[in-house]
Amino acid sequence: MKRILSDFAYGEGPNAACYWGPTALGPRETPKAQGENRTQVAIVGGGFTGLSAALHLAQAGVSVRVLEAETPGWGASARNGGFCCLGGTALPGSMIRKRHGEDGLHHWRATEIAAIDTVRGLLSAHQIEAETHSEGETILAHSAHAMRALRKEQAQIEGEYGFQTTLLEKADLPAHGMNGRYHGALTMPHGFGLNPRLYVDGLARAALKSGAKIHAHSAVLSVKREGQGYRLATAAARIRADKVIFATNGYSSEDVPDWMRGRFLPLQSNVIVTRPLTDQEIADGWHSTQMAYTHQTLLHYFRLMPNGQFLFGMRGGLLSGPRSFANLQKRIRKQFERAFPFWKHVETPYSWNGALAFSHKLSPFVGPIPEMPGAFAGFAYHGNGVAMGTHAGAILAKLAMGRDPGPHYPAMMQTEPKRFPLGAHRRMLMLPAYIAAAISGQ
Ligand SMILES: Cc1cc2nc3c(=O)[nH]c(=O)nc-3n(C[C@H](O)[C@H](O)[C@H](O)COP(=O)(O)OP(=O)(O)OC[C@H]3O[C@@H](n4cnc5c(N)ncnc54)[C@H](O)[C@@H]3O)c2cc1C
Repeated sequence: MKRILSDFAYGEGPNAACYWGPTALGPRETPKAQGENRTQVAIVGGGFTGLSAALHLAQAGVSVRVLEAETPGWGASARNGGFCCLGGTALPGSMIRKRHGEDGLHHWRATEIAAIDTVRGLLSAHQIEAETHSEGETILAHSAHAMRALRKEQAQIEGEYGFQTTLLEKADLPAHGMNGRYHGALTMPHGFGLNPRLYVDGLARAALKSGAKIHAHSAVLSVKREGQGYRLATAAARIRADKVIFATNGYSSEDVPDWMRGRFLPLQSNVIVTRPLTDQEIADGWHSTQMAYTHQTLLHYFRLMPNGQFLFGMRGGLLSGPRSFANLQKRIRKQFERAFPFWKHVETPYSWNGALAFSHKLSPFVGPIPEMPGAFAGFAYHGNGVAMGTHAGAILAKLAMGRDPGPHYPAMMQTEPKRFPLGAHRRMLMLPAYIAAAISGQ
C-alpha cells in the first residue's frame, strides 16, 4: 500500500495512550481472512463507514465481508472525541449556496440532522450503551470578536437549519457551568456526546449478529477487476466480490484502489483526557454537560464526560512522525491550560492522535467510483464522521444493492472529488493555516 503519512502514523505509537482503548472489549469473532472466499459485497475498512454499511447490507440479507487492516475501529472511529454532531463539510453556508443553490444548502443541512438521527436510531435499535450525554452542541466564542461574529451567525444558522438556537452572553456562562476564558455561547439543539469505542464495538456486534463477516488483520493489498466483479487480495486470502465499498477515510492509501490517489487529504486531530476530576475540581471548573467547540483556527472541542473526566481536542499537526507527535502533545496540553486555567494542576494521562480526511471540494464524497463499475467509496467528512460516516455507510449499502439511497443524499455528496495538487506532499497545502495558528498562539 502506498501511504502518505509517516509509518509512525499507521502504527500503535499515536494511539498507545488513547483513553478509549480500555473502556471496552471489541468483538472476538473477527478472524483474519484466509484462503479463497466469495461474497456479494466486500468492504475495505472497518470504521463507522464500513461497519454501518456492513450492518445495513447484512440486515437486508446480502452476504458481506469487512476487511480491516488492524481491528474494527482501529482508525479514527475508536479514537475520536465522540462528538456525534452536525457537520461533514468545511464549506461555509454561503459557499454551499453558491455551488448548490438554496435548495441544495437546505438539503445538505437536513442531511446533517438526519445523520445524527441515524446514529441515535442505531444505538436504540441495537441497544448499544455508549455513555451518551449533552443536549445538542454548543459553540463557544473564544474572543470578544468571535462573540460578535457568533451573534451575527445565530440568525444564519437558524435560517439554514430551520431550528431555534440559544445564545448566552459572557455573564451568563458561569450559571450554566461554562467556566473558562469564553465570551459567550450558542447552543444548537442537535447532537450528543458518546463513547466512540462502545459505539463502534456495538456496530460491529450488530453487524456480526445480522450475518456480516468481519476480518481483522486483513489489509487489502490489491483490488482487481475480474469478470463482472472484483478480486481482492490480502496477505493470506483472495476474496471474490460482486461489489466493493472503500471505507478507509484518513487511513486510505494511494493505490487501494488507484482511483483514491490524491483524492483525500489526511489531516490530524489530537485529544487529551484528564484523570477523574474531584467533585470540587468540577464545581470550580467547567461543569456543563454540554459538548462544546470553538471556531479557533485550529478547532478546539471539549466535553465533561459522564464519569467526571474531561476530554479536550485540538485539530492540527502538519507532520506525523514521533517528534511531531511529542510536540503536539505539549501543544495541546498548553492550549488546555490556557482555556481552563483552574485545571492547570490536573494531570492528563491520556493523549493520542489520528487521521481524518478532507477533500479538494471540502465536501464529503459518498457514491459510485466512476471508473470502477460496482465499486463505491465514502470518505472526507472533514473531522465530523461519527454521524456523517455512519450515515454514509447506510447510503453506500443502498447504492451497492441498487436501491434508492433515500431522501438524505444531497448533490453535495455526489460530486467526484478532484485530485489535490502536490501529490504525496499535499499536506503542505495546510501550511499557511497552521502558520497562522502558530502566530496567533493557538
Ligand atoms: C483524534 C480525532 C478526533 C475526532 N473527533 C471527532 C468527533 O468528535 N466527532 C466526529 O464526528 N468526528 C471526529 N473525528 C473524525 C471521525 O473519527 C472520522 O471521520 C470517522 O471515524 C471516519 O470513519 P471511517 O470509518 O470512514 O474511517 P476510519 O475509522 O478511519 O476507518 C478506516 C479504516 O480503514 C482501514 N484501512 C485502511 N486501508 C485499508 C486496507 N487497504 N485494507 C483494509 N483496511 C484498511 C484502517 O485500518 C481503518 O481502521 C475525529 C478524528 C480524529 C482522528
